[in-house]
Amino acid sequence: MLDAAIETTKAGRTRLTEALLDNPGFGHIFSDHMLVMDYADGAWKTPRIVPFGDMPISPALCTLHYGQAIFEGLKAFHAKDGINVFRPGAYHARMNRSGARLCIPAVDHDVFIAGLTALLRLDAEWVPKRHGYSLYIRPFIFAADNYLGVKVSETYRFMVITSPVGAYYKEGINPVRLMTSGEFVRAVRGGLGEAKTPANYAASILAAEEAKKKGFTQVLWLDGVERRYVEEAGTMNVFFLMGEELVTPALTGSVLAGITRDSVITLAKDWGVNISERRLSIDEVIEASAKGALREVFGTGTAAVISPVGEIQHGDRRIVINNGKIGLLSKRMYDHITGMQYGDEPDRFGWCYRVS
Ligand SMILES: *Cc1c(COP(=O)(O)O)cnc(C)c1O
Repeated sequence: MLDAAIETTKAGRTRLTEALLDNPGFGHIFSDHMLVMDYADGAWKTPRIVPFGDMPISPALCTLHYGQAIFEGLKAFHAKDGINVFRPGAYHARMNRSGARLCIPAVDHDVFIAGLTALLRLDAEWVPKRHGYSLYIRPFIFAADNYLGVKVSETYRFMVITSPVGAYYKEGINPVRLMTSGEFVRAVRGGLGEAKTPANYAASILAAEEAKKKGFTQVLWLDGVERRYVEEAGTMNVFFLMGEELVTPALTGSVLAGITRDSVITLAKDWGVNISERRLSIDEVIEASAKGALREVFGTGTAAVISPVGEIQHGDRRIVINNGKIGLLSKRMYDHITGMQYGDEPDRFGWCYRVS
């Protein structure tokens, strides 16, 4: 698809200032333009780029009532000689997998990439230059029918908005504290857990609030049936280095298939680390900790890349990992993945997509 096929309306003047990029925080500043594409009569229409701004909606918008929506989150980086988007094809494929689960029509790969490329070229100045900073990209699709009956919508809107973001952690990478929930579950096999959809967050925010009140960063979710097997941590997948084995929960249907999870598995295999995707019970984690075999725990996600886990609370049991400090493998993963993103490490897996 050619850029010429994207209708572009430029913003009158930029809202960008030096100060905005110096201290952007996370997710509350938006760049000048956004991509919009509507679906009606069984087809996606011509994509357009317009100034970022509010849009009128009907109170009967079915997404507000029934939540037929999906989203993605990926990043663009200011490398030495251009702008890199990290693994856009993988995020696009996952968006369509989520869409299939939510009865949302697929977006063509070339349209997605061409739209993203045109948007990023137009707002290239919004990609922060400082190391550790990036432009967070949020594609999303929502049902656009205005109708109060429960049914699959006949119209949709696909949008991409972008937001300059700072380093996720203020002082380097700080270990997070996780707790299991005795009461709530996030997802069950056959449900929505594998799809990146707002409903999963709706299901998890109460438990996350309770965890925060108790001083924890996030919930470590156990499986929704037996409540024994570790699944993930709300906004990130989890890895456990036990003895010589690096374990991450298998994708059994209720775990979100993280792209960062996949990057970590690929690198671990490449480095000769003994990596397993399998069932992992919380009892096995507690046992490994008691034996002194639990060496590192880390979460993976696009926003923070690698989040070392310093502590896990399960009922009355408190597990401290690596004295609450980041481990060697976690640090190596963080340095290597971010190195690839900024173009300082060779791109051996073809993960970096150059937009300019
Ligand atoms: C997005 C997300 C992740 C992390 O996936 P990445 O592709 O690595 O960003 C993990 N869990 C949930 C529930 C998510 O929504």
